[in-house]
Amino acid sequence: MKALRRFTVRAQLPARLSGLAELSVNLRWSWHPPTLELFESIDPDLWVSGDRDPVRILGEVRSSRLEDLANDDAFVQRVDDLVADLHLYLAQPRWFQQQVDSGADLPVGIAYFSMEFGVSEVLPNYSGGLGILAGDHLKAASDLGLPLIGVGLLYRSGYFRQSLTADGWQAERYPSLDPQGLPLRLLTDESDSPVLVHVAMPGDRVLRARIWIAQVGRIPLLLLDSDIADNDPELRGVTDRLYGGDQDHRVKQEILAGVGGVRAVRAYTEYHSLPAPSVFHMNEGHAGFLGLERIRELHAGGLDFDSALAAVRASTVFTTHTPVPAGIDRFPADLVRLYFGDGTAESSLLPGIEMERILELGRESDPAVFNMAHMGLRSAQRANGVSKLHGIVSRGMFDELWPGFDASDVPIGSVTNGVHAPTWASQRWLDLAARTVGTRTMEEAQGWEQLAEVSASDLWETRSALRSDLVAEVRRRVRNSALERGSTDAELAWTDEVFDPSVLTVGFARRVPTYKRLTLMLRQPERLRAMLLDPVRPVQLVVAGKSHPADDGGKALIQQIVRFADQHDVRHRIVFLPDYDMSMARYLYWGCDVWLNNPLRPLEACGTSGMKSALNGGLNLSIRDGWWDEMYDGENGWAIPTADGVVDENRRDDLEAAALYELLEKSVLPKFYDRGDDGLPARWVEMVRHTLTVTGPKVLASRMVRDYTQQYYGPATRAGAASISDDYAGAKAMADYRRRVDAAWPAVTVTDVEADGLPDTPVLGSTLTLSATVGLGGLGPSDVSVQAVFGHVDQDEQLGDVVTVPMLHQGSAAGGERFLADTTLPLSGSVGYTVRVLPHHPLLAGDAELGRVAGPSPM
Ligand SMILES: *Cc1c(COP(=O)(O)O)cnc(C)c1O
Repeated sequence: MKALRRFTVRAQLPARLSGLAELSVNLRWSWHPPTLELFESIDPDLWVSGDRDPVRILGEVRSSRLEDLANDDAFVQRVDDLVADLHLYLAQPRWFQQQVDSGADLPVGIAYFSMEFGVSEVLPNYSGGLGILAGDHLKAASDLGLPLIGVGLLYRSGYFRQSLTADGWQAERYPSLDPQGLPLRLLTDESDSPVLVHVAMPGDRVLRARIWIAQVGRIPLLLLDSDIADNDPELRGVTDRLYGGDQDHRVKQEILAGVGGVRAVRAYTEYHSLPAPSVFHMNEGHAGFLGLERIRELHAGGLDFDSALAAVRASTVFTTHTPVPAGIDRFPADLVRLYFGDGTAESSLLPGIEMERILELGRESDPAVFNMAHMGLRSAQRANGVSKLHGIVSRGMFDELWPGFDASDVPIGSVTNGVHAPTWASQRWLDLAARTVGTRTMEEAQGWEQLAEVSASDLWETRSALRSDLVAEVRRRVRNSALERGSTDAELAWTDEVFDPSVLTVGFARRVPTYKRLTLMLRQPERLRAMLLDPVRPVQLVVAGKSHPADDGGKALIQQIVRFADQHDVRHRIVFLPDYDMSMARYLYWGCDVWLNNPLRPLEACGTSGMKSALNGGLNLSIRDGWWDEMYDGENGWAIPTADGVVDENRRDDLEAAALYELLEKSVLPKFYDRGDDGLPARWVEMVRHTLTVTGPKVLASRMVRDYTQQYYGPATRAGAASISDDYAGAKAMADYRRRVDAAWPAVTVTDVEADGLPDTPVLGSTLTLSATVGLGGLGPSDVSVQAVFGHVDQDEQLGDVVTVPMLHQGSAAGGERFLADTTLPLSGSVGYTVRVLPHHPLLAGDAELGRVAGPSPM
């Protein structure tokens, strides 16, 4: 019989164990080994069968066992100590408080919006890298003491669970989650009723959502949930699935996350008497509607649209995560029109705001389309990509928003992603560090650097133990998968022999969009087979990944791998494990010797799985894309040469696959199997050590969150404060300035550019005086920045490698204002120069911000 409805009844804990309840609902347990060990010790078998879920173990453990534990003084003491430790963790000043004490201008609160959060497998509210990155951001923010609030949606069934059919086709299940059984609490008001946010929908309907709070260490994560009886059935379904449904469904989700999310933050901070956040961070464009809601708030308070936009921009940070144009959310403009209404009705989402102003924010070349990334860029003064290379790619991808600028001038920076070490590094490394060098904390760089002192044999033993753990997990999962695909127990003896703990183990696990090229390794199947079956130096390969349910192409790629791995001669050396998620990923990052990644460069924005592998001494074997482009250093793994510029994709795949095989055969395998008299692969171990001690500290999420704090949250705090203080004087001044620039710009011109003092045969460092007359169209000399731009000149007279030199105002002249620079020639070779004018205002983040530039015509 199928249950009509499912709910969770929490157990009544004996009074002496009441601390367990508190420990179970603060997700800090997920990265705090002593707390994990405590829950495991309640019932080790139940712990494993119950998916290592503290809330679940407290609900399912026999009450006699709880009675015994309540009478066990040592256990009660452990609980009390861990509760005290948690309280200390929550209250103690940490890095952020030190920065504030030493005078840094930092936000009193940061609201961080994301459509998915992967904090722990017990809260499967994520599909892949983006969500897990958001989860790691929260955890590192907690460790560093940031006053951050996470905001997103709680999906009834999260992302799908993957299994395989007998013929290797992906099958999907959407088990529904019961919030009562998750580590969540409801935001309630004084009378204990749930606080609801209301969001107006077309046709005088209202979408309501309750607010669940997941406590991630010090960080509250607010998750909106529309599945309540107050909503009609259609609106109840808004938060049904992550990445399910059509455009209409999706726009509703994004409106709830953005508009409803701001309202949830307001309810939360008011209820807890916390200061309103001073910085808002959009993790990808999906949450972009939050800017509109903040404009509405300010507009309702009496500010005009332009000033409200200026204030919102000043305090908003936008992070773009995809270099794949198809990965960006684009809605029909009519859909946005439908949901945001014409602003005339008081009940509309944005009363009093003209539709055209909203559409302008998401405009792209095609006026029928509303682009969420453009909206993010236009409603945030500061924006970034997620690796250095991705910063470059993003500047090119979005340069249409800055017409007239070279891509290198586009004001999009980068913060390279990082991963949360306490979540992703194996306990074995913590134990080793504690035993040998006395370090217990591996959150920060020093912990990893100290592994330099560990002996080669200790390093190798740890790597080998991790590989053995993985082999056991692979066997368990292969067996379960075979049963699901219709095998019987009697046929499954072979699964006990799958994989070998002494064989070089390569991992490849990720979502399956085309650009990640899941099947590149199968390009020459016989060559792969020979490597798998090599009698002396074999390799074994573990593969995992989910294809988007609507992507049959991706499912066909999975099927190719599965069919290859099903062949009896190789099935002990290559496996496809279904249902890639955090709980599986962990074993792969811990145990794989080599982490393989072969995306089509430069389509991987950052990639974080390789970082997690590196934190466990895994060596990356990867195309130089994303993070690996900047962090590959010759000793921490291998760079697969790319065939950049080869247009024929088939040929490019052939070339890159051949390079991959070649590296494996000639370099990776020999290093791994080259053993000294002591049985150790000395050169391999040194690469492991280098990876742990040199690459490890660079890939930490604590480094990433510190970068965001110093490079983005700090400046946004100052800009936000300047824009709102004195009754929004800064925002009004900025709005006024933009209007003046818009009106004047068509008339801004550069004439009479003259160079004096240049010798007949100029050399590097020769001095010259450059002057120009600039027509300002009514702007003042201090409203602009005038620059001399020097650079190498190519055949098309385009300047490259440019150096800019500010030109100073000298006074008026016929036809405009005179500007002049005395400078030395900064470049040698074929050098050219020009003069350009940019808007300049102290409240702009940079002179390129407004996307306006003028020069001598023609430019
Ligand atoms: C880290 C992680 C990802 C993202 O890895 P990429 O390298 O960005 O593909 C996806 N899924 C899981 C379960 C992860 O742990």
